[in-house]
Amino acid sequence: MEETITLHDKKFRIMIPAEKIDEAVSAVAARINADYADKQTPLFVGVLNGSFMFMSDLIKKIEFQNELSFVKLASYEGTASTGEVKSLIGLNTPIEGRHVIIVEDIVDTGESIDHMIGELERHHPASIAVCTLFFKPGSYRKQRQIKYRAMEIGNEFIVGYGLDYDQLGRSLKDIYVVTE
Ligand code: 5GP
Ligand code: MG
Repeated sequence: MEETITLHDKKFRIMIPAEKIDEAVSAVAARINADYADKQTPLFVGVLNGSFMFMSDLIKKIEFQNELSFVKLASYEGTASTGEVKSLIGLNTPIEGRHVIIVEDIVDTGESIDHMIGELERHHPASIAVCTLFFKPGSYRKQRQIKYRAMEIGNEFIVGYGLDYDQLGRSLKDIYVVTE
């Protein structure tokens, strides 16, 4: 593994090696396995693009029968009064009455996940829980419970393991942090 890397105009240094990520994913998977063992075929919903690698590793550690799907929050300009509007695309599985686990790469301010939960609730699932690879407690400013947090970090900007800096860095198997 490289100690430091450059993506576009910024330098990053190694922060969390792949083995530590794997331990954190195993720990969060064990909690989900315990909590959902008796539930009817839960549905994992990954939020693209950032969650693809986390979803791939997480789902291999899930021991109950499950389904999975991916969605995206697409931004478009609304009317002048509504400003930016985000719509949910790719939800082609009916989720009414289902136990849904949203799989996210990172919850920062909570804006995105708050919106995602709101959109999914309109389809009346039996339950919704959030499983995020990273949580930034110092930035979070929403009320929704983020039940499964594989790792907590400060307000620094990270890349790797699915997370990008302007589309670069997603394929890195370790997590890197920007150096000031
Ligand atoms: P929020 O809506 O919770 O403020 O931010 C969520 C989104 O911001 C994430 O899904 C991700 O796309 C981006 N984000 C927030 N913090 C980071 C970070 O440290 N690194 C990267 N690569 N993206 C981040
Ligand atoms: Mg995300």
